[in-house]
Amino acid sequence: MARIFERQRIVYNRIKCLKCRDIIESRSVHDYRPCSCGACAVDGGHDYLRRTGDRDNWQEMSFAVVEKVEKEEYDVWKLLFGNQLQDENQA
Ligand SMILES: [Zn+2]
Repeated sequence: MARIFERQRIVYNRIKCLKCRDIIESRSVHDYRPCSCGACAVDGGHDYLRRTGDRDNWQEMSFAVVEKVEKEEYDVWKLLFGNQLQDENQA
C-alpha cells in the first residue's frame, strides 16, 4: 500500500504591502512581483511562497490547501521545490 504524503497546494500567493497598499500576487513559479514602492515582493506562484523585504512591511494574504499525494508525486515535487520548503513529513 502506497504511503500518502501531504503537500501544500497554494491557491493564492499574495501579500499586501503596508506602505503603498498594493496587493501583489505571483501567479506562476517565476512570476516575481514587487509592489510599487519596492518594500516587498512575491514569487513562487502556486508552487512555493517566496517573499522579499522586511516582514513588518506586508500583510500575508495567501491561501493554501493541503493535498494528499502518493510518494512518487511527492518526491518529484520535493526535487523541484524542496529547498524552498520546510518538510513536515520528515519528522
Ligand atoms: Zn509597497
